[in-house]
Amino acid sequence: MTIRVPVQRLCSRGWVEQAIAALDADQHRSADTHLFKLECPKLSGIDIYLKDESTHPTGSLKHRLARSLFLYALCNGQIREGTAVVEASSGSTAVSEAYFARMIGVPFYAVMPRTTSREKVVAIEHYGGTCHFIDDGSTLYAEAAALARSLGGHYMDQFTFAERATDWRGNNNIAEAIFRQMEREPHPVPAWMVMSAGTGGTSATLGRYLRYKRHATRLCVADVEQSAFFDGYRTADPECRCERASLIEGVGRPRVEPSFVPGVIDRMVRVPDAASIAAMNVLSRRLGRRVGGSTGTNFFALCWLAAEMKATGRKGSLVTLICDSGERYLKTYYDPAWLAEKGLDPAPYETLVEAVLAGDGLDLPLEEA
Ligand SMILES: *Cc1c(COP(=O)(O)O)cnc(C)c1O
Repeated sequence: MTIRVPVQRLCSRGWVEQAIAALDADQHRSADTHLFKLECPKLSGIDIYLKDESTHPTGSLKHRLARSLFLYALCNGQIREGTAVVEASSGSTAVSEAYFARMIGVPFYAVMPRTTSREKVVAIEHYGGTCHFIDDGSTLYAEAAALARSLGGHYMDQFTFAERATDWRGNNNIAEAIFRQMEREPHPVPAWMVMSAGTGGTSATLGRYLRYKRHATRLCVADVEQSAFFDGYRTADPECRCERASLIEGVGRPRVEPSFVPGVIDRMVRVPDAASIAAMNVLSRRLGRRVGGSTGTNFFALCWLAAEMKATGRKGSLVTLICDSGERYLKTYYDPAWLAEKGLDPAPYETLVEAVLAGDGLDLPLEEA
């Protein structure tokens, strides 16, 4: 008996192999992102490190996620030659996915809130992606799924698949890269890693890796003012919702996303938006270049932990991420008129963060779950 394999199947397998080879070769050409040490001599023995994810070709940590999601969907047989790829995104993921879609030659559509920064829209279109705007953020997921259906395409769904598309055991994921880069530091095993949550995928990868490798490092997740994650964690209720949209792009979600894994989080805090922007400003001044708002969220929580370690006489290292560059937010977080319109005053928080870094701030106001 002869088994007939449809010609179409054979062709698409060849195409899929080429697409995977293209992603693989791109990764092979890439260098790891830098792990910066922030010099804070007054913190004597508490060392701060920042993994700079703004230097990926598409400008944010979403470069890693987009590569993983494309590989996952290709290996699942969900993306074939000509498959339209659709994503629900607040911007950064769509920028990175548009880049990889162009690399393998499939059409890409981003469904996103109308409020997404102009800079990100320009970047998505630069890579040949199409932007599809919606007014009501709560319909984001349904609109993306519907668009994929109508195109006969594939809904990538980062908010569901981020946590499983990344190899959490290693394979040079962000956690493994950080530990390798820390090897020659005075405190190579960090006391804390700090991360904000958008999909929750990065914190899931960090937390699982810490447990799997049995490191003493603890994971602190920093949420923002308008977000369901913090209440979802505190009450252990995955149905928690948040009506208002987050002002900090990339982090804070209206629902507890499926990729958010609460079980791997040791501590969860909620950073006020004005404090995120204050910490963003302080860090940008210290680095001599601008970082984004969610990096400020990360850095504020990290400084809170540094102050606590200082107060209890503990020494060790603290690691967080520069998620993206501030150049994307010149008309928002870096614009005094925008801050005034949103009623945000970072100045008092800036004073507090500076005091911690100068070694004489013993506490930062922060809500802990
Ligand atoms: C997505 C994102 C985050 C959060 O990362 P997740 O892994 O999705 O939780 C933080 N900052 C920026 C700018 C992002 O785009």
